[in-house]
Amino acid sequence: MKQWVDRLRIEKSLPSEGYRALLTCRDAETMEYLHRQAREVAYTYFGNRIYIRGLIEISNCCRNNCYYCGIRKGNTHIERYRLSQETILECCTQGYELGFRTFVLQGGEDRLQSADWIEETVSIIRKQFPDCAITLSLGEYPPEEYKRFFRAGANRYLLRHETYNQEHYSLLHPVEMSWKHRISCLESLKNIGFQTGTGIMVGSPGQTVEHLIDDIHFISRLRPEMIGIGPFIPHQDTPFGNQPAGSIEQTLILLSIFRLMHPNALIPATTALATLAPNGREKGILAGANVVMPNLSPGNERKKYELYNNKASLGAEAAEGLSILRKQLQTIGYEISTEKGDFWKREN
Ligand code: SF4
Repeated sequence: MKQWVDRLRIEKSLPSEGYRALLTCRDAETMEYLHRQAREVAYTYFGNRIYIRGLIEISNCCRNNCYYCGIRKGNTHIERYRLSQETILECCTQGYELGFRTFVLQGGEDRLQSADWIEETVSIIRKQFPDCAITLSLGEYPPEEYKRFFRAGANRYLLRHETYNQEHYSLLHPVEMSWKHRISCLESLKNIGFQTGTGIMVGSPGQTVEHLIDDIHFISRLRPEMIGIGPFIPHQDTPFGNQPAGSIEQTLILLSIFRLMHPNALIPATTALATLAPNGREKGILAGANVVMPNLSPGNERKKYELYNNKASLGAEAAEGLSILRKQLQTIGYEISTEKGDFWKREN
């Protein structure tokens, strides 16, 4: 089994049978070997430094009804909110003082925060924080609107494809949502010049090992600059409320596979990982992740952005808890980097 790991590290890809073998392997020694290789590769590119991104959840209103998502339109049990530009700027200012040099504006597909409004918000942040990166995670837009966001100063865009298998996509999303459109949005984002992020939930309902292999091949072709891999966690007010959560082990295996395939990619130890296990973030880093995204949203709104049950937003997951995060990272031999942390190409 270790031969597959060695081959992946050297060739940065495997035939499907190699991925299948790794994804179904439950041998602790092999898994530790895989994570160690991924850790070493991440270390070669980033040393022991972990980039931090300040996450600002700008709206929990969404026009969509993804079956797994706690802020889906059909959930009548949450109080909706939208942040004003002034509040977003206050979050950025607070984040800047804490040392953040990337702001991630994340929200549902809320058409009341129109494309004009997003463009304007990005250009205000760009003017006020010229040395910072602006990442958007706001869902699907027509290419011309993505272009406007890019020209206004946004540098990065996160849009998880969730699954490359069309049938599986239809199981996770209502009929009005289109797999084809999601994939074409990702292609547009890449073409426009965004540092583009995609990814999946591990263990989402109906997901099989073959789906994961398709996801790996898709990500290999797309070559995103950022890869977000987190376990599925159910939310009680969704159609998948009774489904089991995804496994931490499987998430970590995928994280290490992606690190070996994409050595210089920006790969977060996700909040979902930290929510599912008290030391989930550290495990993610030890499996090859190099980014964490503490929450910079206003404290009174954080609980309302519950994508899944018990989503972590306090302690080391909070921007004001950076000292806790710093200590946690120190215990595993890592430190926070306050650099902007752009993706950079490097020939191997
Ligand atoms: S996953 Fe995104 S698009 Fe889907 S309902 Fe949630 S916020 Fe909306």
